[in-house]
Amino acid sequence: MEALMSSRPGYGSVSAVVLDALRGIVGESGVLTGDSMQDYARDEAPNAAAFMPGVVVKPGDASQVSRVLRLANESKIPVTPRGAGTGLSGAAVPILGGIVLSMERMNRILEVDENNFTATVEPGVILRDLCQAVESKGLYYPVYPGEMTATLGGNVATNAGGMRAVKYGVTRNFVLGLEAALPSGEIIETGGQYIKCSSAYDLTQLITGSEGTLAVVTRIVLRLMPPPGQRSVVLAPFDSLEKAIDAVPHILRQRVLPMGIEFLERDGVHVTEEFVGKETPIHQYEASLMIIIEAENEGEATRICSDVGELCLERGAIDVFVANGERAAELLAFREKVWPAIAQGGRADMADVVVPRKHIAEFVRKARQASRDVGVGVFLLGHAGDGNVHISPILPDVPDGAARMADFFHRVYELGISMGGAVSGEHGIGYLKKPYLESVLAPAKLDLMKRIKLAFDPNNIMNPGKIFDI
Ligand SMILES: Cc1cc2nc3c(=O)[nH]c(=O)nc-3n(C[C@H](O)[C@H](O)[C@H](O)COP(=O)(O)OP(=O)(O)OC[C@H]3O[C@@H](n4cnc5c(N)ncnc54)[C@H](O)[C@@H]3O)c2cc1C
Repeated sequence: MEALMSSRPGYGSVSAVVLDALRGIVGESGVLTGDSMQDYARDEAPNAAAFMPGVVVKPGDASQVSRVLRLANESKIPVTPRGAGTGLSGAAVPILGGIVLSMERMNRILEVDENNFTATVEPGVILRDLCQAVESKGLYYPVYPGEMTATLGGNVATNAGGMRAVKYGVTRNFVLGLEAALPSGEIIETGGQYIKCSSAYDLTQLITGSEGTLAVVTRIVLRLMPPPGQRSVVLAPFDSLEKAIDAVPHILRQRVLPMGIEFLERDGVHVTEEFVGKETPIHQYEASLMIIIEAENEGEATRICSDVGELCLERGAIDVFVANGERAAELLAFREKVWPAIAQGGRADMADVVVPRKHIAEFVRKARQASRDVGVGVFLLGHAGDGNVHISPILPDVPDGAARMADFFHRVYELGISMGGAVSGEHGIGYLKKPYLESVLAPAKLDLMKRIKLAFDPNNIMNPGKIFDI
């Protein structure tokens, strides 16, 4: 655990007076100190150090958030908003100490409006709870980042993506409006319960994806959709990853856009089978595509699956398996377990570079080559349909293992950027990917972003040290 410093250069400390004031705002039970803060010192980023907060504060409503921020701003204390801490880039970790503002008590689903196709939620609502609530009313929230225990506030702040992005897009495509507390304590509302807006700068979209560096999201209006009739999965094994990925553009050109196209390699399949204690039909194959289809009814699903299956066979698939209903759900659950399975040994790390879809095969090939050149074992998996490749190198058990990992990451980010991609497709920058972002952003763009940050947050108290340094 990193040493706790109650005060950093330029920042105020969480003094006894501040603690009293915080208790006055959120109540005794809403303030944690000492060892009870351990769980707030890290997120799910692998191999990252833990940083103890000065204090954990759990507001119950927007006005309490506003008062905490005003106090922090006056005393120049860093504030790190936190959802469920499932992030993979260290974004919710208080690297400069100060206040961790945990949104866990703000977990009410305020409204599911069946006539307006919207849900209005507090930021601490867990994604799984939202999905259940909207489904019970015959509606659908299609964004599906793999971790259902994440909060909607965290999803908004990281612009979470996931497996359904090919068809539906990512979180920002479903955020219609926000309420947010600024570091000054002012509360603003952006957007609303409408789906079109052409009225000045779009602050909803600016705050979405800002990783808690601009404001604290205190309410979210989300767009909903009618649910699909049927979901099916086409599993297509190939004898090489290259062949599998080369098939993707052909699938995307079909008349029906799949909800997602995931790719898996044999090694990743094997560790996951061991992890879940169950074998899959793709056990023995080098690489496989998992193509997720949504259709109005069984007949349509059968037709689409058969078209997609035939196309895969034409592009070199060795076989094709189609799963519906429970079986399809099991396969999707299996896919979600791939990262936890890879990560379980504690030596895996992950980059989630995104590249233009036309370059995905070349990117995967070159990333694999880089892993050989550097001498680092790697798992490759991810969202083949949207160009977002999850690259998981395993820390080699050799004296220069850490240096090899750093070299590999450097090469992979450079490669992705050289192909017109971006550092992160869905997990965000946090503090762990900050050096890579800073090395690839054009100076004018970085400078503009810093000026935007300071317009919101002149004292740089909001999640300082994340995305870029001021
Ligand atoms: C097994 C596993 C699988 C995953 N799969 C995916 C995936 O497929 N796609 C994907 O996109 N992500 C995935 N993730 C990453 C993670 O679930 C997402 O980044 C998620 O959006 C984080 O939500 P959270 O509530 O845990 O946020 P946290 O980790 O607590 O915080 C993330 C960021 O949001 C900020 N934040 C949180 N709440 C607020 C608020 N109210 N106001 C302002 N800022 C706030 C924090 O300051 C931080 O910067 C996965 C994680 C795991 C562990």
